[in-house]
Amino acid sequence: MLLQTDNYHFEMIHSELKWAVGEDNVRTDDADKLGHSIDYYWVPELWHDRNCPPQPPQIIVTPETAQDVAKVMKIANNYKIPVTPWGGGSGSQGGALPIYGGISLDTKKLNKVLEIDEKSLTITAETGCNMQQLEWATEKAGYSTMHFPASIACATLGGFLAHRGTGVLSTKYGKIEDMVMSIEMVTPEGEVINTLPVPRHASGPDLTQMFLGSEGTLGVMTKVTLKIHPIPECRKFHAFLFKNMTSAMAAGSELMTSRLRPAVIRLYDTPETAKLIKKVLGIDREGSYLVFGFDGPEEMVDLEMARACEICRKQNPEDLGTEMGQTWWDNRYKFFYPPYMFHMPQAFGTLDTVATFANIENVYWAMKKVVTENFPQATFIGHFSHWYEWGCMLYARFIIDDPPSDPAEATALYNKIWDMAIRAAMDNGGVINEHHGVGLKLGRMMPELYGNAFDILKRIKKIMDPNNIMNPGKMGFGN
Ligand SMILES: Cc1cc2nc3c(=O)[nH]c(=O)nc-3n(C[C@H](O)[C@H](O)[C@H](O)COP(=O)(O)OP(=O)(O)OC[C@H]3O[C@@H](n4cnc5c(N)ncnc54)[C@H](O)[C@@H]3O)c2cc1C
Repeated sequence: MLLQTDNYHFEMIHSELKWAVGEDNVRTDDADKLGHSIDYYWVPELWHDRNCPPQPPQIIVTPETAQDVAKVMKIANNYKIPVTPWGGGSGSQGGALPIYGGISLDTKKLNKVLEIDEKSLTITAETGCNMQQLEWATEKAGYSTMHFPASIACATLGGFLAHRGTGVLSTKYGKIEDMVMSIEMVTPEGEVINTLPVPRHASGPDLTQMFLGSEGTLGVMTKVTLKIHPIPECRKFHAFLFKNMTSAMAAGSELMTSRLRPAVIRLYDTPETAKLIKKVLGIDREGSYLVFGFDGPEEMVDLEMARACEICRKQNPEDLGTEMGQTWWDNRYKFFYPPYMFHMPQAFGTLDTVATFANIENVYWAMKKVVTENFPQATFIGHFSHWYEWGCMLYARFIIDDPPSDPAEATALYNKIWDMAIRAAMDNGGVINEHHGVGLKLGRMMPELYGNAFDILKRIKKIMDPNNIMNPGKMGFGN
């Protein structure tokens, strides 16, 4: 770890970095350091709020090319100092926090859109591109990435690759890992490597997929080629209010197992329907709100829509029609921002997980039981956002309106809820996380999730990053 008190070494490294990537790309001012010590993880937000800011980086570098990144890695390896990649700082797991100080490698100057291939329908871009900017550039050429996460305006492409992120239309277009053709990566020892140009092959194991989700622990992704899509002829929505979550889940799972191809399905449990759907859409009746949408050529959309409605009607829900579906789509990002989103002094966490249809309801009930029985001060709400042929994702949340004012006490309470809720998910067929990643928040549970297979991940990390400079302390790899 780079010692703040060791001025001799600090100035040596500072000078080398300036020489390597240019003076304008190395910063040490307090405001920048403060900005790079907080992401969207509730715990650092809390400590900032209580005037105890967590560990900042000592130096922020903003490389402009993959070669710049490689130079930074070589310097960091030489001095054995931590390098933590930083995209938009919108991650919720503390992944971008430089908890051992050192270099925060901010990717935002790696922001060029390099090529749109209209024959293959792909786009190649640098990973520091802001996701909204990338979508606008794609739309300008007449296409779409179809990646619409709620943080589209504040996160980078690299952040989504690093966390296996997902957007609202994932049910048809996939999570980010399904969209990737190939990546360019700078290894911890400063080599620039490329994975194979196509995502389907029988030419050995898939390195692209190994790096996706590695959260900056195996290197820095610098460039990516993604699939893009024509703008669909039409996109239509429909919504129903079911008597309860179980009947809504029966309809949602049948929609998927009958192999219809909705672009989106979202199902809210009754408490979230009462809390958020009521506020945003004004539906003031008890029940479980389910919305779905299809896109593509209009005849196909109408046919799939009619089939999907038939499936839902078997459960006798209230038909809310197309307008209540369209309104949900028009407001889809609102749910995640003030005044609808939870915020300080409230404590809250998104306990997202994924399981098969056979297990997902058990996961929901087990998590809810453990949270409400052990933490009566917490509210538990959830919705099911991203659907697969075999199961779906649960976006569960706990909210505490009045957490302890002492930050250590509040953090201990927060961690205990995570420990119990995620273990309840794992005990019932769920996993640690579906699209927000592991980061600092959940690393301690990785050995439990993987069993002895976690040793394989640790060995890969050791071979790729022998000095453990890349994002130490994250994903359960230790420091
Ligand atoms: C309001 C809000 C809504 C959100 N909605 C969604 C959503 O709908 N879907 C979703 O998936 N997420 C969502 N998130 C979470 C967050 O936006 C994602 O996790 C996103 O992927 C983080 O991207 P970032 O650029 O901000 O990454 P950061 O937070 O800066 O970094 C995240 C991790 O990625 C690593 N990293 C960053 N860039 C690189 C790189 N180029 N190479 C290697 N490692 C890298 C960092 O070291 C860190 O470990 C939301 C967050 C907020 C605040």
